[in-house]
Formats: sequence, C-alpha cells, structure tokens
Amino acid sequence: MDDLKFGIRDKRGDWAPSARLELPPYWARPPKLMAILKWLPEYLFPWNAFHMATALAYWYLVIPDVEVMKTLSWGWALWLYSVNAAAIFVMYGSIELFYYVKRRQGTRFKYNAKFPRDNPSDVFWFKSQNIDNFVRSFLISIPLWTAVEVFMLWCFANGYAHWLSWADHPVYLAALVFFAPMIHEVHFFLVHRAIHHPLLYKWIHSVHHNSINPSPWSSLSMHPVEAFAYHAVALWHLVIPSNPIIALFQLHVAGFGAVNGHIGFDKLELAHDSTLDSHAYAHYLHHKYFEVNYGGDGLIPLDKWLGTWHDGSKEGDALMQARFRKKRDRMNAKKQTAVRAG
Ligand SMILES: [Zn+2]
Ligand SMILES: [Zn+2]
Repeated sequence: MDDLKFGIRDKRGDWAPSARLELPPYWARPPKLMAILKWLPEYLFPWNAFHMATALAYWYLVIPDVEVMKTLSWGWALWLYSVNAAAIFVMYGSIELFYYVKRRQGTRFKYNAKFPRDNPSDVFWFKSQNIDNFVRSFLISIPLWTAVEVFMLWCFANGYAHWLSWADHPVYLAALVFFAPMIHEVHFFLVHRAIHHPLLYKWIHSVHHNSINPSPWSSLSMHPVEAFAYHAVALWHLVIPSNPIIALFQLHVAGFGAVNGHIGFDKLELAHDSTLDSHAYAHYLHHKYFEVNYGGDGLIPLDKWLGTWHDGSKEGDALMQARFRKKRDRMNAKKQTAVRAG
C-alpha cells in the first residue's frame, strides 16, 4: 500500500501522518453528533473489544474458583503469571515477528525508519534493546501485573470489594465498561506525569525511555515502581462498586493495551488493501520529545488542558518549542539568581 497517500517521508526516511491527531469528537463545540456516531465503533473495535474478549476468556477459562482465591497461594498466582506471560509472548511476539523480524511491511507507515535491532546501544542490557526490553517485561513487569491481579481477585473473593452482579446492575456495569478506557487514561496520565518529575525520572522512568525508537517489546519495559503503579489502575475497582470481569478488563487495557503506543507503525497492513490503525502516534511523539503527550489519545484530554498536547502538526511543534524555550529561560534566570546570591 502506498503510505505516501496518508503521510510524508523526510530525508532520513522517517514517515509522519499528514492528518493531525484529533481529540474524540465529543469534545467539539458545538457537539457533532454524526462525528460521535462515526467515532463510536472506532472506540470499541477492534482494540477495546479485544481487551473485553480476553477479560471474558480469562474469567471463564483461566481465573480459579472463588473458593480457591479466598486464600493467597503460589499455585494460582504462578498459574496466572504463566497465562499472562504466554499471552503477551503470543500477542506482542507476533507483532514483533511480522513487523520487526520478518519486516513484512518494510518501513511503510513506520515513524522511525530505523529498526532497533540494527542499532546496538550501551544503555541496554546486553547492548540490545530487544533483549533488554524482553527480559524486563517477563522478569519485572508481568510479575507485578500478576501481583496486582492476584491481590485484586483475592479482595473480590473475600468480600473486601463491592462486587455488583450483572443481573442486578446491567446498566451501571455496562457504563463502567464504556468508561474504563477513560479511567485508564487519567490514571496513566497521573502516574506518568509524576514519574517525569526530574527526581523520579532519573530513578524510575528513564528505564522506559531508553527506547527512543520503541518496538512492541518496549511497551512493558519498565522500572518495578512504574510497572506496579501502571497496572495498579485495576485497583480502582476495589474502591468503586464494580465487578471482577471489569477489573480484569481494566487490567488488560493496561497490560495488553500497552503495545498500542509502541507499535512504531501508524497502520498495520492486513490482507486486501485493508489496514489496522495502531493508535501509536501520540505516544510515539512522547518517546521522541519526552515532554509532550503524557496521556493517550485524549479521551480525557489532560494534555490539551495542561498545554502538553502535541498533535503532530507544525503548529503542535511550534507550541512545544515555545514551551521548551520558556522552560529554558526560567531555568537560566534561576541559575543567574543563584550565582548572584552565592
Ligand atoms: Zn512508552
Ligand atoms: Zn514518559
């Protein structure tokens, strides 16, 4: 497929979409009903529907009996870890295999023309972004994801959470499913913004940002503090009246959904001229420029409200540069005052 119909490629071979990132249409004033109706299926399919499907599959096929979950034990915890690890291996691994190992799409729709494997770097364990990211995912992030999952299920099983049944509260629970990706975005924004504070950044979040040119394995490559705080989004369902299936859905939006920002391609080519939108661009810009797009696609546009939104356009770039300049000036002024005072 000709990616130049959808974007431009610069001298380095990096591709960028020509359309700017748009907030969901319910933020438009006056509200555009038709645009909202068109947006809805894109919001639900395929990604959120996929996360719901995996949550249901877990609930009916993987999650142990409530009686078993009343007692914490290594048996069911390790079982859940194995399933999470296997599922991530298959899901992230197949995207990695097709698009980064076999490179079946070449660099069509690829933001950064380079592939991480071709650029060994000292910042990574074994000088390899892939090995480093892979090992961190399976030894740090997936165990912490599982720890959150085990604790959350143990609380539900023991009646420490407000467990609502689908039969009694269908409308409320359906609404909660609908809003869960928005809860994710707000939680992610707050955790992510906090670990960009200079002190925490160096200690915690720099691990994730070693991957300036992310690939699927970068998604869960995190410091333990970040990995725990990121997946802890599911614990909101211990606070609000909910249902364990929705808490699992919330966890899967985080764990499986992390790949979206790190696919590195704007569209994945499928058969017969059809493509799948990755929703990767906002977070790709975050990896490129660090101090923009702390949240996701703007379901709840905290970046826009706080002035850190970059929509990929020239205007977005100018806004970012102006903000960076202001910050530099502020820091220089502070330094000069310190020198004078000293
Ligand atoms: Zn990232
Ligand atoms: Zn970051």
